[in-house]
Amino acid sequence: MPVPEPGPGEVLLKVGGAGACHSDLHLLEVPAGARSFTLPFTLGHENAGWVETMGPGATGFEPGDPVIVYGPWGCGLCMNCRQGIENYCQTPGKPSPGGLGGTDGGMAEYLLVPSTRYLIPLGSLDPREAAPLTDAGLTSYHAVKRSVHLLGPGSTAVVIGAGGLGQMAIQVLKALSSATTVVAIDTSADKLKIANTMGADEELVSGDDAVKQIKDMTHGQGAEVVLDFVGINPTLTMAAQVSRMLGHLTIVGLGNAALPVNFNSPAKECSVASPFWGSIPELIDVIALAQAGKIKMLVEHFPLDSAAEAYRLLHDGKIAGRAVITPND
Ligand code: NAD
Ligand code: ZN
Ligand code: ZN
Repeated sequence: MPVPEPGPGEVLLKVGGAGACHSDLHLLEVPAGARSFTLPFTLGHENAGWVETMGPGATGFEPGDPVIVYGPWGCGLCMNCRQGIENYCQTPGKPSPGGLGGTDGGMAEYLLVPSTRYLIPLGSLDPREAAPLTDAGLTSYHAVKRSVHLLGPGSTAVVIGAGGLGQMAIQVLKALSSATTVVAIDTSADKLKIANTMGADEELVSGDDAVKQIKDMTHGQGAEVVLDFVGINPTLTMAAQVSRMLGHLTIVGLGNAALPVNFNSPAKECSVASPFWGSIPELIDVIALAQAGKIKMLVEHFPLDSAAEAYRLLHDGKIAGRAVITPND
């Protein structure tokens, strides 16, 4: 791709790392007629790197500064955007994240970032390692944040799907509430082993047995917080079965199945939400957590030429943590 020229207020980023997210696999499956982008299109919505050049009028950063890029680009002017909640921009058609529909993403040597407000300084963190913090990290952080008040001593949080996002969620749960028992559920024994190294207290194979064990652990009550990072029928069913009265059930995975909600299921007054990404202030929190050594992504690097291979491995469940494409290595 030609190197883009930053216009007024824009920034040209030299890409250090661009994470391969499972959402990209969902995007690749969208039928041609329903696409929100035109081909050729560059993927990569989980980006970090170094400031290359500042467009006319853009200030506050110097060439060479290591930065991470906030992904859901909103209008910047609506009530939500002005609070940094650009993931819930109120302007129709927004947010339009680069690499996820709309403009090109970060799986290229250079990425055009529309505004300096999307750049968060990384300090001593390496962009190649840090890139997943801006989606896997931020999305998980935001999903956990809505439930922190439920995570007191003796509480239980269930993480379904211990892949890129789930592994981050386990660490965030432990960082924000060390008193919470974190239960990881996955179909893969390898992922469950990794979940343990990330701080999970219990690792369970996905299915009916997991439901029974969580019920036993919680004296029949269920878990205060259930986070589903898959979102298919079997996982939503499990999530509802282990939900607790007055608890939270949070659907993050884009498996696109529907959760039946009626008087008896999920548990009474359990609130269900489907959050999308996170806010700019939350990304600043996530970077602070990483700088403090409280959260760290398990990263595998791939040169740009091997990006397709990275997606193949992700599709087959063979990426241990997160695949990160490094276009300038
Ligand atoms: P990933 O491929 O890294 O991880 C998915 C994990 O789920 C894997 O470990 C896999 O073994 C596990 N899994 C699959 N089927 C399962 C089952 N039946 N029971 C238990 N575990 C199962 O994917 P990721 O990048 O972490 O993304 C996870 C999901 O979150 C995707 O659907 C992605 O599109 C979505 N996502 C949502 C947002 C958002 O803002 N809501 C943001 C990013 C990603
Ligand atoms: Zn993503
Ligand atoms: Zn807006």
